[in-house]
Amino acid sequence: FDMFVLAFVERLFRPTYKKDDFVLGKKLGEGSFGVVYRVSLANKPSSKEGDLVLKKATEYGAVEIWMNERVRRACASSCADFVYGFLESSSKKAAEYWLIWRFEGDATLTDLMQNREFPYNVETLILGEVQDLPKGLERENRIIQTIMGQILFALDGLHSTGIVHRDIKPQNIIFSEESRTFKIIDLGAATDLRVGINYIPKEFLLDPRYAAPEQYIMSTQTPSAPSVPVATALSPVLWQLNLPDRFDIYSAGLIFLQMAFPGLRSDNSLIQFNRQLKRCDYDLVAWRKTVEARGELRRGFELLDLDGGIGWELLTSMVRYKARKRLSAKAALAHPYFDREGLLALSFMQ
Ligand code: ADP
Ligand code: MG
Repeated sequence: FDMFVLAFVERLFRPTYKKDDFVLGKKLGEGSFGVVYRVSLANKPSSKEGDLVLKKATEYGAVEIWMNERVRRACASSCADFVYGFLESSSKKAAEYWLIWRFEGDATLTDLMQNREFPYNVETLILGEVQDLPKGLERENRIIQTIMGQILFALDGLHSTGIVHRDIKPQNIIFSEESRTFKIIDLGAATDLRVGINYIPKEFLLDPRYAAPEQYIMSTQTPSAPSVPVATALSPVLWQLNLPDRFDIYSAGLIFLQMAFPGLRSDNSLIQFNRQLKRCDYDLVAWRKTVEARGELRRGFELLDLDGGIGWELLTSMVRYKARKRLSAKAALAHPYFDREGLLALSFMQ
């Protein structure tokens, strides 16, 4: 079946929407490139808060619609369920892109990590019940393992599709109540290397708290990528050369770090950590030596040191200066850290 025929048929049977179909609810977020609301359908006021999400975006909305359409067809389970996107130009204001998703749930990983109960609050969400087991490092490790597994599984889906997200952070990981798994949101800074969409990195889109040290995802010597869909023979070669997916792996490694160390979960402490790591030439082992004596991060090291230190081994294989020395998402999933039977029931492989 030809991919374009399939896409056309799918589009034909999918409902289309326009501005007046939506009733705006609570504002969920506001960035430099758009505002996000919870909304419901005007003719179908199902829940009173609305079971959809609307992003009114600036010019970058066009790229975000493209990325979401691609994810829908290629790796739907990786990201929030995309419903529809369109150009809204009926009012006198500048044209906006409207993007609609299914409302996945109230909590991002940031919200959950800020909670004192973390990671037990996530265990309850994933299993849908309170576990009557003793609390302790082993159990915390198992929950964190499950969350990391789900994030890497979603990332592997994106990367296998040729998409690099470039803004992986806890704020952009949402807990989907229906599937009881974590999904990725916010493809506004993403790039699709197989067809060259948004190929030129826009550094100002990158969040310095979670960005890998490389300024450019592709080497600046790489000739410009094709700007229209073309035969893709060239792209896999570029992918192999530059390993742009490893940018996301670095960010995911920082999320792993924050989950293991409660003391590194706030913005300020993460910024301070980044400064310390830079001073250690991005060598986590050297960083560990400088902070270990202080004791405040001890519990996190203990967690990562369980089972012969495989958690620490995984972390140091993700947060590295050189992109090519970082594991791919697929290789990280095959890491012995995920080998044990420890993963929570209902976890990412179902
Ligand atoms: P921004 O460009 O403002 O960062 P995001 O796409 O990250 O836009 O969305 C902003 C916020 O809206 C998210 O942090 C999340 O709280 C909420 N949100 C976005 N998409 C969904 C969704 N599908 N379901 C539930 N909440 C969502
Ligand atoms: Mg966001």
